[in-house]
Amino acid sequence: MTGFSFTVRATDGAARLGEFQTPHGVVQTPAFMPVGTQGAVKAIRQRDVEETGAEIILANTYHLLLRPGDELIARRGGLHRFIGWARPILTDSGGFQVFSLAQRRVITEEGADFQSHLDGSRYLLTPERATDIQARLGSDVAMVLDECLALPATRDEVASSMTRSIRWADRCRRRLESLRSGPVDGVDVTNRGQAQFGIIQGGVFQDLRNESADATSAIGFEGYAIGGLSVGEPIEEMYAVTEATSRRLPANRPRYLMGAGTPQDLVECVARGIDMFDCVLPTRNARNGQLFTSEGRINIGNARYAEDDGPLDSQCGCYTCRHHSRAYLRHLFMAGEMSAGALNTLHNLSFYLDTMRRIRDAIAFRTFDSFRQGFLRSASRLSVD
Ligand SMILES: [Zn+2]
Repeated sequence: MTGFSFTVRATDGAARLGEFQTPHGVVQTPAFMPVGTQGAVKAIRQRDVEETGAEIILANTYHLLLRPGDELIARRGGLHRFIGWARPILTDSGGFQVFSLAQRRVITEEGADFQSHLDGSRYLLTPERATDIQARLGSDVAMVLDECLALPATRDEVASSMTRSIRWADRCRRRLESLRSGPVDGVDVTNRGQAQFGIIQGGVFQDLRNESADATSAIGFEGYAIGGLSVGEPIEEMYAVTEATSRRLPANRPRYLMGAGTPQDLVECVARGIDMFDCVLPTRNARNGQLFTSEGRINIGNARYAEDDGPLDSQCGCYTCRHHSRAYLRHLFMAGEMSAGALNTLHNLSFYLDTMRRIRDAIAFRTFDSFRQGFLRSASRLSVD
C-alpha cells in the first residue's frame, strides 16, 4: 500500500548507512532536511536547494494550513506540484507551532483549539485533522500529532502528556489507514504512497521514553521520531536520551531526531543511531550572518573580514565559496542586500549537506569514529567570533 521502504546498507558502531524509498525518489541516510517552512527554504530557490544535494525538505503544516490552506494546495495537485519541488518532502503535524506560536490555545483530549497568529481565526487541530491536512498536502512522510509540553514540566506532567501523545498517535494511524482504504469525508489524498512516522516523547525521563517507544512501535509506523529534545536541556542529557531511545526503536525503521541541531549534534547523534535530522540553524543563522565553516563558525559582519580576499570556506565547493570573497560577503551583509541572505544560506546548507555526505562515506568505509574525532576537533578550533 505504501511506497515507502527503508534499508540499512552498512553500520559502523551504532551509526547506520541506509536509504529510504518514497514515491518521489530515494533519500540516502543519515540525511539532513532543510526547513522550508512556507513551502520555500527561506532566501533561496528550489534549484539552489537541489544544488546543495538536499534529497528531502521539511515543510510546516501549521503555516501552510493557515496560508494558503491545505484544500487550496490539494486543488493544485499537492505540495510537490504547487511549490515545484520534485524530490521527497516531510511535513510535521503542525503541533509544535500550535503549542509555540498560536494564541489562546486550549488543549483537550480531542485536540488543540487555537487562534491563528496571523488573523486570530479559530482552528481545531485534532489527530484526525492533522492526518487529513498532511494527506491533502501529499508529503512523502507525514508526522503524527503529539503534545508539545511547555517547559519546565514536572515528571507527572511529562508522563500524562506522553500517554496522551500515544493515544493521539493511535488515532492518527487509524485515520491514515482509513484514508488509505478509500475516500473519507471528501479528503483529497494527493500522495497515495505517503508514509507516517510516530513520535517518541517522555522528556529526559528514560523510563518514560522507553514506555513511549514501546507503545508507539506497537502501533506500527514506517519510521519513528524522537521529539521534545533540543529544547534547552543540557547537551549531554540530550545525547544520552537520544542514545538510549534510539536503541529501543525497531532496527528496521528510520529514526528521526526532530529539531537538531548543530553540525556537532549531527555527528554525535549519528554516532547514537539517528538517520534523519532537520533544523532551522543553517538557514536562520545564514540570514543573521553566522556561517558554518570547516574551521568553525564565523560572523561575517565582523570587521576583521572587511579586506579578507579569501573564500568563506576553502574546503567548500558551493557557488558562494567558488565566486565570492569574505570581503564581498561582509559588504553585502552590512549593506543589507537580499543576496547576502541567499549566498549565505546556499553556503550554510551546502556545509550541512556536505557534512552528511562525509558522514555517509565514513560509515561506508567503517572510519566513522576517526571522522568524528577529527570533525569535532576542527569544528571547535574557531569559536564564534
Ligand atoms: Zn560554501
